[in-house]
Amino acid sequence: MLNMELRSTVESLFRRIQNGEITDLQALFKKIDGLGDFDRSYLFDLNNAIEGNNWNLLGRHFQNENFISNDGIFLIIAPYRVYRSKKLIEQLSGLLGIATLVDEQSENVSTYLKNLSPTNEDLTKIIGFRRLSSFGAVGGPLGEAFLVPNAWCFKGAENGPALNDLTEQYARINIASWCITQIFNETTSNMLLNPVLDPIDGISIRNREFQFHEAGHFSGYGFSKKFNQLFFQDHLNRAVEEWRSDGVSFYLMEKSINEEQFSKLIASNIVLRLGLDIHRPGGTDSDPDVIASSLMLQDMLESGNCIVEDNKLSFPIKNLSQLSNVVSRQKERAIELTIFERASTINEINSKYSEVSLKTETSKLVKKFVRAPCVGLHVLLR
Ligand SMILES: [Zn+2]
Repeated sequence: MLNMELRSTVESLFRRIQNGEITDLQALFKKIDGLGDFDRSYLFDLNNAIEGNNWNLLGRHFQNENFISNDGIFLIIAPYRVYRSKKLIEQLSGLLGIATLVDEQSENVSTYLKNLSPTNEDLTKIIGFRRLSSFGAVGGPLGEAFLVPNAWCFKGAENGPALNDLTEQYARINIASWCITQIFNETTSNMLLNPVLDPIDGISIRNREFQFHEAGHFSGYGFSKKFNQLFFQDHLNRAVEEWRSDGVSFYLMEKSINEEQFSKLIASNIVLRLGLDIHRPGGTDSDPDVIASSLMLQDMLESGNCIVEDNKLSFPIKNLSQLSNVVSRQKERAIELTIFERASTINEINSKYSEVSLKTETSKLVKKFVRAPCVGLHVLLR
């Protein structure tokens, strides 16, 4: 149970930080300690991190998940890095929530993943949470809904969990669904939306789909190795990486879960990519998520698994179980690229990535049949 006094105390802490009042916070932290069941050394270090601008104090706590109290309350404050118009921006951010969903990869997936990955590192864990309050680059329609560990700006963050804002995912799915009906004909949009809008399963399907996507990043040369070698400063590399991770995730799903679940997770991925990501500001010129989603659509079109009919897109398939055909080209190309990565240097990977490019005719099609029908809806969404 969340203590309302704890909530209001954390909210006043957030307000003070936002106003730049970052000294003499001990009294507030002491109160939080009394009201919540947090690891005391975490609160102590968090206080010092804020007052001393020394965020590296948080690395160990983040990895050990000390930011979640014994009764599931979730509190984190640190600078978070986001891409805005081709630039990385750091923004001090805070989140208070309730941790509700923890998905860990099954042993089955790890076995298949091992064949694709070079390292024995632990796979990123995903923690789903319900958001209560937030500020900065996280939370709300203007913030990020899926927080990747390496975007937190302190040492050791890359080994911590990814955080999935279920409150925001839920809100976004409504916008995404509307877009899907604008882009696809009725049969295809119903097929895609039914599993995702399921009031009971919908959110956990999305959380599981993210887990597979993270496994995709982990495969090949390895995400953190690429990240540390500044591979992702190039937004096109970033885009190809997203597209590749999705492709690898389809492979891992196919190998490790049943056909019905597999189809639902693919539906969830397509709704996210074509209902949300592809509409982000910046378009195919600069936004990695827009480019990654357009690459996905390009594979569908080139393999004949997506067609344009009466000004709308459609999948020429009969039922949900055939969705795997729609993403098969992306899956195969991604696996090929991943196997190449395992045996290559970063420079070789760099030139291979530049071969995965978006064609002008795809960009035009995306503009006309995907982005234009949904103009206005995503203006505020990042
Ligand atoms: Zn990703």
